[in-house]
Amino acid sequence: MQVNGERLWSRLMDMAKVGPGVAGGSNRQSLSDQDRDGRDLFLSWATASGCTHEYDEIGNLFVRREGTDPTAAPILMGSHLDTQPTGGRFDGVYGVLGGLEVIESLNDHGIKTTRPIELCVWTNEEGSRFQYSMMGSGVWANHLELETARALKDVDGISVAQELDRLGWKGERPASPTDYSAAFELHIEQGPILEADDLEIGVVTGVQGFRWYTINLEGHPVHAGPTPMEGRQDPAKAVGRIITEVYEMAAEFAPWGRSTFAMFSSHPVSPNTVPERLRCSLDIRHPELESLDAMESKMRSIVDSVCDSLGVRGTVTLDNDSPPVAFAPSCIEAVEASVKDQGFSYNKMISGAGHDACYVALHCPTSMIFVPCEGGLSHNEAELITAEQAARGASVLMGAVLRVAEA
Ligand SMILES: [Zn+2]
Repeated sequence: MQVNGERLWSRLMDMAKVGPGVAGGSNRQSLSDQDRDGRDLFLSWATASGCTHEYDEIGNLFVRREGTDPTAAPILMGSHLDTQPTGGRFDGVYGVLGGLEVIESLNDHGIKTTRPIELCVWTNEEGSRFQYSMMGSGVWANHLELETARALKDVDGISVAQELDRLGWKGERPASPTDYSAAFELHIEQGPILEADDLEIGVVTGVQGFRWYTINLEGHPVHAGPTPMEGRQDPAKAVGRIITEVYEMAAEFAPWGRSTFAMFSSHPVSPNTVPERLRCSLDIRHPELESLDAMESKMRSIVDSVCDSLGVRGTVTLDNDSPPVAFAPSCIEAVEASVKDQGFSYNKMISGAGHDACYVALHCPTSMIFVPCEGGLSHNEAELITAEQAARGASVLMGAVLRVAEA
């Protein structure tokens, strides 16, 4: 049994026009007017399909298709509708609209499931406007305090709490784990592996862990001209060495180790003064907890030794910790069986990116389904999948849901 690929594709294209980007993608940052318009469009479709809906305290939006046994633990599908500032048309959106397409197709085929089916639109998965990625699912999973999330502010000083009130998204439903029998997140791969191996589906068995840090370096501000190079306490010199050594460290953890420096700022903002303070973000990733811990301790000792040698004061603050995740064998098997039923080529794989499913997996059996995207490109307005790829993934999701819907 297949989903209606045409309907799914036209909805993906309609959603992309809400909060359009500047280069063919989308700009629906979390809790913005564009995010609201996107959810409104989604809700108009979900309501027309006969679903009820409910918001929880952090604005996660749950849509429900009732089962023949309303007391049975439901099955959860879901992803996110918010995007990066220069986001693509499929990251997250595909998982939400693919989930809705499963519900629509079950309606079309007159199939009633014993278990209710819920579809969640998680709040602020991207973590770009409010800098905590997978925020809504993190709160739901008790990984992040509700009040900490509500206090997050954007660059204009507007808080998550203010926006939830403004949009009317602060619901009555507690933002805490409820009993789901199984959960599935459908997503684009956001990497190059499936395309390179010419495979149609990725059966995702787990997700890389990641940690976000702020590295703060404090030196001594002096004139760029008269001050000799020797003896300067220069945070820029320190950050240069730190970057080189941390990249070398990541290479020691190949093929899975990752390190990414970004978001540099300095003070004072002047071209002819050695900075007093220099700050940058660092993201490190690995699918195994032991290796992630080892990467962190190596990184910390690199910062310490570089700073000691240059007379710079360095501190490292952990801002976000998303542990590696191993998905539930029962859900992985349901997805694999569904792929085999439909005769698609596939491979089992680890996700390099974090997803809401990581937090969901802390509380109920969970797995993910990937489809390839062109060139592995994501977080880019040019992000692209084909209508056929979209339909395949949603059909696999439907098959997996049906396998667990009666159990
Ligand atoms: Zn995503």
